[in-house]
Amino acid sequence: MNIEGIIEKQRGFFHSNRTKDIRYRTEQLKKLQQLLKENESLLYQAINADFGKSMFDTFMTELSLVYHEINKALKNLKKWSSPKRTTSGLFLFPGKSYIIPEPLGNTLIIGAWNYPYQLTLIPAISALAAGNTVLLKPSEMAAESSKALAHIINRNFPSEYFYVIEGGVDETTALLNNRFDKIFFTGSSQVGKIIYEAASKQLTPVTLELGGKNPTFVFADSPIKMTAKRLVWAKFLNAGQTCVAPDYVLVESSIEQSFLQAMKDEIEMRFDKNKLTENYTRIINTRNFDRLVNLIDQNKIFTGGFANRAERYISPTILQCVSFSDHIMKDEIFGPILPVIPFTNLDETIAQVKSKPKPLACYIFSKDRRKTAQILTEISFGGGSINDSVMHLANTNLPFGGVGLSGIGSYHGQAGFDSFSHHKSIYEKPFWFELKLKYAPYSKRKLSLIKWLLE
Ligand code: NAD
Repeated sequence: MNIEGIIEKQRGFFHSNRTKDIRYRTEQLKKLQQLLKENESLLYQAINADFGKSMFDTFMTELSLVYHEINKALKNLKKWSSPKRTTSGLFLFPGKSYIIPEPLGNTLIIGAWNYPYQLTLIPAISALAAGNTVLLKPSEMAAESSKALAHIINRNFPSEYFYVIEGGVDETTALLNNRFDKIFFTGSSQVGKIIYEAASKQLTPVTLELGGKNPTFVFADSPIKMTAKRLVWAKFLNAGQTCVAPDYVLVESSIEQSFLQAMKDEIEMRFDKNKLTENYTRIINTRNFDRLVNLIDQNKIFTGGFANRAERYISPTILQCVSFSDHIMKDEIFGPILPVIPFTNLDETIAQVKSKPKPLACYIFSKDRRKTAQILTEISFGGGSINDSVMHLANTNLPFGGVGLSGIGSYHGQAGFDSFSHHKSIYEKPFWFELKLKYAPYSKRKLSLIKWLLE
């Protein structure tokens, strides 16, 4: 089926008002949940073929989040979609005011490859829950996962409601030549700009979920072993190919050596040293493998640095004595390499972080509330965790998204529903009373009364 044909069908289907029915939305979400459960083994196999991701990781970081999002939407759909009353004020007496959430219409969701299921399905769940049609374009870089999604969705949902279009730049460019009521994009800031420009031609609203270099502050008062444990998990999950992974660590100089050693011990405990293990994901392709290997400064390796191109494997790698001017500090790393920068002066370090684009996430390990508050106040970033890393993403009560170059808008839970809805504001007035004040002829007395009422 051609792209224009599907878009036309989706437009017609939305205008039929079928998706306005809450029962229809509920049925479709339950159907999606059922289909994913029935096809779990296909989903596990596909993602494993793409980049060696284990069943455990796939469940924990992809499917469990998707199921949770469906359950949350099913539980709250009525509440989220019902009109909300608000006050009107004396001047508007005896009217009432309320806000009706309504679906935006035909939506396009473009996904990234690194979490190919949750980055496409979670926004799709929000869009369907809010009563939209969905055209989904997964990343071609996780080709098998993309194929699995197309197989599951296109065989089971009417194409005029929910459809997967596979492909890369050409297909996305062709899609962007059409008018949508919402575009939701997850990917790099560079491509985000292309999407934003295309959307601007039709003034299409966008949510852009982008990347960035996420700083992590480790202060001398934090328990070193526990900090290392949480950071090693967060950084090397998905082999560092996580948008909210800690990109670099800023550690107080006084604990630099003991912190580095604790990270090394933790890596050795969790991963077989220099060996390929089932628990550890591969790099998505050789282009990214080569890019990452080039980022490893051999003189600065504290641990790791082992790479096998045929297997697209890079062992968990920590670089020491790094400074802000190093090559690795230029762009988002997006792989299993963690540069560690020692610092002594917090104000100067905050200024360095602020000289870079606003990150998607930031992490602070400290028991000192003043230092934590200083960072939270002074640095702008999408979201983060204190004394942990990545885990804020798992709470669907927290809107997830970036700021500045790391993104526009947010989703997860109600934030997702809202980002696929228009909030229609209504003032409703009965006929039995009319205040004469606003009508001519005007007078000084009327003006002072209006002033009293409206200020
Ligand atoms: P990418 O920007 O290369 O690709 C994302 C999508 O855009 C893909 O579907 C791809 O087919 C499409 N695309 C690529 N080039 C295009 C072009 N020229 N024109 C139109 N469409 C194009 O990103 P990626 O490599 O898939 O993902 C990695 C990036 O995504 C990282 O920067 C990461 O931080 C970010 N990311 C962000 C989040 C988040 O939630 N904020 C989540 C995951 C990944």
